[in-house]
Amino acid sequence: MRPFRNRLTFIMMTLIGLSMLGAGFAMANVFKQSHIAILEDNMVREIKLMQATMEFPPLEREQKIQYYTEKSRQLDALTEARVTFILKDGTVIGDSEKDPDSMDNHAYRDEMLQAKEEGAGSAIRYSSTLGQDMLYVALPVKQGDYDGYIRLSMSLKEVDQGVKQGWAVMGGGIIILFVLAAFVSYRVAASLTSPLEKITRVARQITRQDYDARVRFHRKDEIGQLAYAINGMADSLQTQLQTIKDNEAMLQSVLDNMTGGIVMLGHDGNIVLVNRAAEQMLGIKADNVTGKSYRELRQHYELTKLMEEGLEHRNNFREERSLYFPMESIVRLDGVALLQEDGTYRGMLFLLQDVTDIRRLERMRSEFVANVSHELKTPLAAVKGFAETLLGGGVKDDETSRSFLQIIYDESERLNRLIRDILELSKIESKRIAVEYSPIHLSTFFESLMKFMRPEAAKKRISLSMQVPEELFMEGDEDKLRQIFTNLLSNAINYTQEGGRVQLTVRDMHRAEQGDTVEFTVMDSGIGIPKKDLPRIFERFYRVDKARSRSSGGTGLGLSIVKHLVDLHHGTIKVESEVGMGSSFVIEMPLLQEND
Ligand code: ADP
Repeated sequence: MRPFRNRLTFIMMTLIGLSMLGAGFAMANVFKQSHIAILEDNMVREIKLMQATMEFPPLEREQKIQYYTEKSRQLDALTEARVTFILKDGTVIGDSEKDPDSMDNHAYRDEMLQAKEEGAGSAIRYSSTLGQDMLYVALPVKQGDYDGYIRLSMSLKEVDQGVKQGWAVMGGGIIILFVLAAFVSYRVAASLTSPLEKITRVARQITRQDYDARVRFHRKDEIGQLAYAINGMADSLQTQLQTIKDNEAMLQSVLDNMTGGIVMLGHDGNIVLVNRAAEQMLGIKADNVTGKSYRELRQHYELTKLMEEGLEHRNNFREERSLYFPMESIVRLDGVALLQEDGTYRGMLFLLQDVTDIRRLERMRSEFVANVSHELKTPLAAVKGFAETLLGGGVKDDETSRSFLQIIYDESERLNRLIRDILELSKIESKRIAVEYSPIHLSTFFESLMKFMRPEAAKKRISLSMQVPEELFMEGDEDKLRQIFTNLLSNAINYTQEGGRVQLTVRDMHRAEQGDTVEFTVMDSGIGIPKKDLPRIFERFYRVDKARSRSSGGTGLGLSIVKHLVDLHHGTIKVESEVGMGSSFVIEMPLLQEND
């Protein structure tokens, strides 16, 4: 593609060609004219020479013709020109080539008229007799008996041949010059257009988003300035693009790292953007849904209904809906109409917030409050009732009033325990509890714990045994561990009938994945726990048998606290049980605690 270069070359070549041709013609013309002028001068001189040297004797007409014909032929042989003798009245009386009698009157030939008026005449005519251009020169001659004209005529063939030769020489020169000129003008055109072509190429590269493309030459002229401007434009585009890319990356990382989901719909209802959190919440892939209608999210029927309303009414709203896919959850959906500065509507932005945990916690909290008030009410009612009876003075005998007072004491003790456990639990749950790890020598630790538990077991004649490796140390919070095992052992003793058995076993474990751990098993031969209750016994206030728990002084919070304390030690707790056969609680905790 170089039309401009070609056009430029063509124009330059045409101009050069035309001017060379013009010069050629002018030169040929000058050459011919000067040749003819010289020829004319010579012929005039020859005629004058004839006039001076020839004899013009007085003769009769017949003899005259004979004489001048003879003379004309002699002179023709000498001068190599046709010689004609013409009388004043135009009659030809001698000619070196034709018979004068057969020739017409010559008075009105151009050269004759001119010779008559100016003293010398010349003309160029095509002679059909000879088939060539002829130059005629005539002079009036008045000498002796002769009064007329002598006319010489010569063929212009030689002149034409000279011109032709000149043309041949000049043609060769012109061709050589033309080739040279072609070469030079092509180079000139190229030097003009090739930088433009380079600039065009770079501009095209930039259009194809190759922003590294630059014009690589340096010139001080206007083309150089154009190149400089193009390079400047590319620089500016590149930095702008980088800024845009950086901003985009930043926005993308903000979008991706948001905990809230974002779904953006265009005004036509097509999905424009879905961030990572929304992908997870809705169980979709952004790549599969972007560019498609929001109706593609049809497995979330309620959500698409809300989107539809949002698109229709173009106003902001906040609603909560349950999702059943990819898992059951509650989602708060904020719809925001996207309006541009000039007020045009661009679509809707939906913010999704998973509020499942918040709602569950809220429910748990209100249930907890209800449970707590219920749990507190029962002992309080007992305390109040018995105290009223006593105050009423209706009870006379000492023994009954003593037993009443005992009940009041027991119930207030229970209240005390209950409040203590509730406070403890809320402290743990709100993470307001400090954990202080230290190395614990397990056999010493359990020895002292057993000493404390034994009297209670002895009351029910329950055999309490333990099996702890002698040299085993573990890292843990001693107070919390004591609380864990006091609770578990108290439960084991409480829920085992008289004469039963409770056993504590400690084992040192080596686990490939989680490193060294310690396994604690508290096993009893007690009443056991029904299968259906097993998953729930770690819940707050959950009791298999309310009456039994109450009679044993339980609060229903013990296992809940144990579970939390085990979690604090990064451990796990499991329970296995069979009704009537006994239960065993298995705790596994890391031997060493990693620093948080
Ligand atoms: P409680 O104060 O009632 O003992 P816990 O949270 O300690 O409360 O225990 C929850 C419930 O789990 C108990 O009410 C009891 O029904 C059952 N349970 C706990 N430990 C045992 C056990 N070793 N044997 C049988 N049932 C048990």
